[in-house]
Amino acid sequence: MGAGRVAIVGGSIAGCAAALAMTRAGAGEVVVFERATGRLHGRGIGLAVHKDRYAELEAAGYTDADMPWVRLTRRTWITREGGGHAGRVLGAVPFPFRSYAWGPLWNALRARMPESVAYVQGAAVERVVPGPDAAVLCFADGREERFDLVIGADGYRSVVRAATRTPAAPGYAGYLAWRGAVPGELLPGPRTAWPEGEATTVTFPGGHMIAYRIPGPRGAGISANWVFYTAPPPSAAAALKDPTSLPPGMVTEELTAHHAEIVERHFPPYWQDFVRATPRADTAVQPLYDLAVPHYGQGRLVLVGDAASVARPHMGGGAVKALQDVVVLERSLRSAGSWQEGVRAYDAERSPSGRAVVDLARRLGHAQVEATPDWPAMDERTVETWWREVSDGERGFGGHALDRAAR
Ligand SMILES: Cc1cc2nc3c(=O)[nH]c(=O)nc-3n(C[C@H](O)[C@H](O)[C@H](O)COP(=O)(O)OP(=O)(O)OC[C@H]3O[C@@H](n4cnc5c(N)ncnc54)[C@H](O)[C@@H]3O)c2cc1C
Repeated sequence: MGAGRVAIVGGSIAGCAAALAMTRAGAGEVVVFERATGRLHGRGIGLAVHKDRYAELEAAGYTDADMPWVRLTRRTWITREGGGHAGRVLGAVPFPFRSYAWGPLWNALRARMPESVAYVQGAAVERVVPGPDAAVLCFADGREERFDLVIGADGYRSVVRAATRTPAAPGYAGYLAWRGAVPGELLPGPRTAWPEGEATTVTFPGGHMIAYRIPGPRGAGISANWVFYTAPPPSAAAALKDPTSLPPGMVTEELTAHHAEIVERHFPPYWQDFVRATPRADTAVQPLYDLAVPHYGQGRLVLVGDAASVARPHMGGGAVKALQDVVVLERSLRSAGSWQEGVRAYDAERSPSGRAVVDLARRLGHAQVEATPDWPAMDERTVETWWREVSDGERGFGGHALDRAAR
């Protein structure tokens, strides 16, 4: 493909990994343009990575054992009905995942970025103009820069995607995820109420909350991560037609009260204490979107991570998908004779798996939020059967195997 100039728009998980990929693929110059100023590492909470997907990413050289993680082994679904202090377990399935704290993971990827890469912050790309032999980035101050390849790692509202010939837009799923983190020292007792290694799903009509332990914010100690999914109250829904995330400190009183009311009405006492132990400053709300694009790459434009597809987080695979995209991009460009050939190979491999992940996540959301079963009526056998059906036998849950790229 020749040692050309590559721009990466967005310097989060996908952007940092893409910078490493492009250097390895032989690009002459790599520049990352990140809109945010300051460090990103303090802003995320937790994420889970399937152990098999982790092994593939480690083999490809994108993750390593130094990144702090916590071992998860099983997932339970619990109800308050007929249960004691910590609720009644309805059923359980194996959950072979590693959990990470978003900040230390981002830090580790940022630290792996070769020194030759320029990471420019406070650089918001306003527009991208594609051409046959190059693409031009246009910045807010009127500056323009030309690159041989532009990689869109700029998340679900990607400006790079908007410049493609098939600029699909994300569709709001109609419900929200409240996210929070409980510092280890604030976890309610007794310790035995919440077994180590367990990802607990607290059920209620119209949604659920999943909670699991993650590494502490700076990679030391333990913290706990929770994600609570349900529809907003009708009074707030109209204002959420095309909603954006509400970061910590910005969650409205109405949404905070809605969450608190459901917790009080449906959660077992232990899990009420757990949620209430969350510092208000550590609670955020994220509207959920579905986005599948027909093409991951066209001409001199390439999409990776959330810019390319957005799956509801029930999948446990957002960061995995972003890193897999980057692994395949590196291999596609490295073995190609031209930029166009490399982009075509990447598109052919990643577009179908991106769509499959979005479909599976939509189905998982439907079954666990939009059309919840009569949870208290379920038992070990029905939970297992129901889960096998909604998760498609776990094919693709936590992300599809890297397949061709892993060989
Ligand atoms: C601060 C932060 C915290 C997160 N925390 C969590 C978490 O706790 N758990 C979880 O599961 N997921 C979290 N996510 C989402 C997660 O990173 C993604 O779902 C997934 O890893 C794919 O990442 P991405 O790099 O493709 O997209 P994103 O992580 O969304 O990153 C996109 C990046 O592009 C930048 N950007 C956007 N537009 C422009 C532009 N026009 N010009 C320049 N830069 C631009 C944004 O500032 C951002 O840094 C977080 C994302 C961010 C940005």
